Amino acid sequence: MATKNPLNADLHSHSIMSDGLLKPAELVQRAHAHGVDLLALTDHDELAGLDEARATADALGMCFVNGVEISVSWGRDHTIHIVGLGVDPDYAVLDVGLAQLRGGRDARARQMAAELDKVGIHGAYEGALRFAGNPAMVGRSHFARYIVEAGHARDVKSVFDHWLAKDKPGYVPHQWTSLSNALDWIHRAGGVAVVAHPGRYRITRKELRSLLAEFCDLGGEGIEVLSGSHSAEDVAASARHAREFGLLASRGSDFHGPGESRVDLGRLPALPEDLSPIWQKLV
Ligand code: AMP
Ligand code: MN
Ligand code: MN
Ligand code: MN
Repeated sequence: MATKNPLNADLHSHSIMSDGLLKPAELVQRAHAHGVDLLALTDHDELAGLDEARATADALGMCFVNGVEISVSWGRDHTIHIVGLGVDPDYAVLDVGLAQLRGGRDARARQMAAELDKVGIHGAYEGALRFAGNPAMVGRSHFARYIVEAGHARDVKSVFDHWLAKDKPGYVPHQWTSLSNALDWIHRAGGVAVVAHPGRYRITRKELRSLLAEFCDLGGEGIEVLSGSHSAEDVAASARHAREFGLLASRGSDFHGPGESRVDLGRLPALPEDLSPIWQKLV
């Protein structure tokens, strides 16, 4: 039997321009060393790392796709992430929309610090900022790193479990952008839209189906089937959703940094063979 040698695509990753630990150039070098053939940098709500990443990928002869992971508020009070792939960073509507989206982060961070102060974690705003490679993008991961450094928790994951996940003391609800804005910006910037890590949302099956139906109505193209945060059950469920909703399948580690991410760049298994990969639209 002929063995397939599928493309090693990793279409979800983060640099210090959002909440990753590596500089864009370092991230690309690591992906290349791990045998990635096609990489997307998808920083949260930010395009600033793309030029450096692309220049590094070009020098290494590795294919690179411009990406972004947009924070969306959907339904009752859910936060959903939509990955845009193949976007033109010079397109003003996307760039301006993301700048507005980032604008709310500083006030949220100050509020988070005030809440954490009440439960005995002091100096968290200044502490988180020290971990933020991009002060406009201060977020929960930077707070988590500070809280570990300050000795309140063993690792980043337990910080989320105790303080930063929804309904925990340091969680501050926030209004991100709408699903329709996110898809509009991505499409107008020439990209394709992908529902990030659907297995990770704490929503009912019915809500997830209604999210996917709305995403399809808005012209969304893809769904992450393989993600660094998916269990085997999440992969199977996402594959079923890809088939049912006629969505293209994506594969992305969601790598944030060595020692912090469960799955490293380029280290996910291959997509189920019957699914159509999203990179058909990208290369
Ligand atoms: P923010 O956009 O500031 O709310 O931060 C969201 C980021 O926090 C995600 O992109 C993840 O990197 C990180 N995160 C969220 N939940 C967890 C968790 N349970 N464990 C580790 N990191 C998490
Ligand atoms: Mn993140
Ligand atoms: Mn995400
Ligand atoms: Mn991500």
